[in-house]
Amino acid sequence: MTASQREYTAEELKEFAERAGRELEDAPALEILRWAAGTFGSRFCVTSSMEDAVVAHLASRAMPGVDVVFLDTGYHFEETIGTRDAVDAVMDVNVITLTPRQTVAEQDAEYGPKLHDRDPDLCCRLRKVLPLEQGLKAYQAWATGLRREESPTRAHTPVAGWDEKRQKVKISPIARWTQDDVDAYVAEHGVLTNPLLTDGYASVGCAPCTRRVLEGEDARAGRWAGRSKTECGLHG
Ligand code: SF4
Repeated sequence: MTASQREYTAEELKEFAERAGRELEDAPALEILRWAAGTFGSRFCVTSSMEDAVVAHLASRAMPGVDVVFLDTGYHFEETIGTRDAVDAVMDVNVITLTPRQTVAEQDAEYGPKLHDRDPDLCCRLRKVLPLEQGLKAYQAWATGLRREESPTRAHTPVAGWDEKRQKVKISPIARWTQDDVDAYVAEHGVLTNPLLTDGYASVGCAPCTRRVLEGEDARAGRWAGRSKTECGLHG
């Protein structure tokens, strides 16, 4: 077992997270990911909603073959599944697809149809939060594509922080990036993006809970539109 595969204690992980959050605040995204890869090795993964493959691409440069975890809720647009398949086919990453305990049909039978309209928090818990909790058990650190400018709820996202709920280091290497930074990286490296991003969607989630954004709205305004809900619970 190499040092990078060591099982750290929660106290050690918390200290890593807090120190990295301070020391890497101004570091380039690739440097943050190289730190994560060097520290956690195969116990580090990237999660991706397949809105784009920017963080997966950055992580593959830091650690070729890195695990990229995708949550297949059963409610995705076909473009999202296509993006997942394309990432798996062309990038030097290991795509891992997590699925909920129940299919949509099984959930409909137990809770009634369209749970997303009646109780989206429960639907997100069953189809996103619980499967991710299960899937992340193999890792000590995980990376997300959260960016501070996406919404007020994400404005204080640290580049590295302590995920108290899951007892893991949570890394957001592009937290400081603007949409222009994302667009420039995509253009420079030819990174795969979800085709819906050029069809009026600024943020892509499950089909029943995502609409196109209007002029002047923030990027996540099309998610659970008309409801007070703004996050699925993965980042709370
Ligand atoms: S985003 Fe909507 S459909 Fe997807 S898990 Fe949450 S409530 Fe269910």
